[in-house]
Amino acid sequence: MEAMARMVNGRIGGGRVRVFATWLTIVSGWLVTTESAVHAAGHRTANFIVEAPTEALARKIGDAAEQYRHTLAVEWTGSPLPRWSRPCPITAQVAPNLGAGGATSFVFDRGEVFNWTMTIQGSEERILDSVLPHEITHTIFASHFRQPLPRWADEGACTTVEHPVERARQHRMLLEFLTTGRGIAFPEMFAMKEYPADVLPLYSQGYSLARYLIERGGRHKYVSFVAEGLATENWSGALAKHYGVTSVAQMQHVWLDWVKQGCPAPPASLAAATPPPAAAWSATTRGQSPDSVPASQAPVATAPVTTSAARTSIYAQARQGGQPAAAVR
Ligand SMILES: [Zn+2]
Repeated sequence: MEAMARMVNGRIGGGRVRVFATWLTIVSGWLVTTESAVHAAGHRTANFIVEAPTEALARKIGDAAEQYRHTLAVEWTGSPLPRWSRPCPITAQVAPNLGAGGATSFVFDRGEVFNWTMTIQGSEERILDSVLPHEITHTIFASHFRQPLPRWADEGACTTVEHPVERARQHRMLLEFLTTGRGIAFPEMFAMKEYPADVLPLYSQGYSLARYLIERGGRHKYVSFVAEGLATENWSGALAKHYGVTSVAQMQHVWLDWVKQGCPAPPASLAAATPPPAAAWSATTRGQSPDSVPASQAPVATAPVTTSAARTSIYAQARQGGQPAAAVR
């Protein structure tokens, strides 16, 4: 439930690189124990190397990760990611009552992204239904944009692939934040490249604004809008071009009015349209240093993973009022 992240600058091989990491942790009162950190089995897929307590779990998680990587990349960008040159290690701690959460880190250097690592934890159901799609959406954005996104736009979008129960919880928290002086003015939020000390309102507002925009233009337009904002550093201009809103300040006004009205669905004429043809997007979608194996030849999981309404909340078993797991701080 608590979401923490950080971005630090570092050096690798003498070149200046940017290490990007994002964490999603769930308040549960359960801490990672030394015992649960012992992994018994591994499984390798085209793009992932999974460590999990059993081989069956490692296989399930790896297959689901491949399927999410494919389907979510198409949902967001219109085409699947090329195979990564090196697989992303996933370390999974799986236990029925383990608080669900995840952490993904990677390195940006000269327009490339590499050195993936992902740790996930929770019950099998929560991991497969929600932690994986959230974390894998981070890798899709990193592969697509090749640079850090504004925090609200990244985490907000990742939250939209979570289960409806969790999204409803974010909305309830948003209303609390807006009525207790913890809301963030949009000009400030749009300028945030690091996480604020009071991080939860950023997640709630980011999710709410991402939802508003996606409900009106779909995921492809959202990605297009973010790309424009990153390229121009003119978010008002990007909003005007893609959503007809004249400025960031005006966006805040429009969004707040929508929240006050109870977040009504958009008129049919404004509802998210059918995504544009994949061909229109293929030129802008790039994977992590793709190797010679076309994405179409990458193994695809055969076990179906439901990627929409059937996702189960990763927070269903979370206890209220606990503290974030110290292990992921
Ligand atoms: Zn996240």
